[in-house]
Amino acid sequence: MVLPGVISLSDHDRVVAVCEQCGAAYAAVRSDGTLRPIGVETCSCGSDEFRPLQ
Ligand SMILES: [Zn+2]
Repeated sequence: MVLPGVISLSDHDRVVAVCEQCGAAYAAVRSDGTLRPIGVETCSCGSDEFRPLQ
């Protein structure tokens, strides 16, 4: 699914990141080994620790 206005992610490894604290899932990209949720700095619970959805 393509959402209008979303930046092109064709050069990135697009994954789903899951918050370590509350389990919320975000679309994310892997950058230099770090998961970076798209469009948010932290989870809505305040955590900035994410793990990839397996
Ligand atoms: Zn969270």
